[in-house]
Amino acid sequence: MSKRFSFEFFPPKTEVGAAKLREVYKSLAPLKPEYFSVTYGAGGSTRDRSLGTVLELQRESGACAAPHLSCIGDSKEDLAELLDTYKDNGVRHIVALRGDLPSGHGLGSGELAYAADLVRFIRERTGSHFHIEVAAYPECHPQAANMGADIRNFVHKVAQGANSAITQYFFNADSYFHFVQEAHRQGVDIPIIPGIMPITNFANLVRFSDACGAEIPRWIRKQVASYGDDAASIQRFGEDVVTSLCAQLLAGGAPGLHFYTMNQVEPTLSLWKNLGLSSN
Ligand code: FAD
Repeated sequence: MSKRFSFEFFPPKTEVGAAKLREVYKSLAPLKPEYFSVTYGAGGSTRDRSLGTVLELQRESGACAAPHLSCIGDSKEDLAELLDTYKDNGVRHIVALRGDLPSGHGLGSGELAYAADLVRFIRERTGSHFHIEVAAYPECHPQAANMGADIRNFVHKVAQGANSAITQYFFNADSYFHFVQEAHRQGVDIPIIPGIMPITNFANLVRFSDACGAEIPRWIRKQVASYGDDAASIQRFGEDVVTSLCAQLLAGGAPGLHFYTMNQVEPTLSLWKNLGLSSN
């Protein structure tokens, strides 16, 4: 079976950012990804920008667009309206998430508390129209009581009607293979696609990883520290590390790769070339 590749963007905040994203998706479209996805700020904070970006991608890029939709902090009415708009505009793929509200907002905000509730809501409202992706956490979601509970919650979420899953990024291939094995053992048979984070700005990556519970192995931190301010060496090293990770994942049976592009072409394109991937 052919592997599935997808690229993730965030909705730009400025006209300059929007123009840059246009260049990015034009450069990545010839790789013929399965879809371009667009993140959504929990509580609807990027609602209009996410919608605008999705519709532009769907119209202009030549690839399918897949909006992320998070339920925490949004009302069912708002979510239903967005779903209808996407459906009316020919969107068929959606990434269904709980989302994270800024600290200070209770976890219980909104009418749908967990991603599983959102998946059920989408199925009830739109039947089989959307291909639904959900999130998976090979290194355990930071708020889960433990790994077993997190996998049980994942299995329950899939049972609500998800078609495939994308993982949080990780740098340890074993965590992915272990997660997939456990999910299979518990009856999950949908594709679980590894999320791939290119290593570019290391300080940002460390900050982000601490927040989302992704582990950066000590040997990577130590090697990067030894380069000091030498950005070119950090970039070269990061590219080698992530290329090897992707190669290991694909060789080990991963059904594809989902790239967190951070709205940049080069890091993703370099990985693509290093891996010798061709367009679908
Ligand atoms: P859920 O599956 O609901 O799980 C959240 C936590 O609750 C887990 O710890 C789970 O074990 C636990 N849980 C689930 N069900 C229950 C239950 N019934 N009882 C008790 N505990 C339960 N965030 C955004 O805001 N916008 C985005 O666009 C976005 N895109 C993402 C894309 C990908 C591929 C990934 C991996 C993450 C993305 N995120 C995004 C981040 C995501 O929203 C956060 O990681 C969030 O904390 C969890 O979302 P989820 O959909 O995995 O939640």
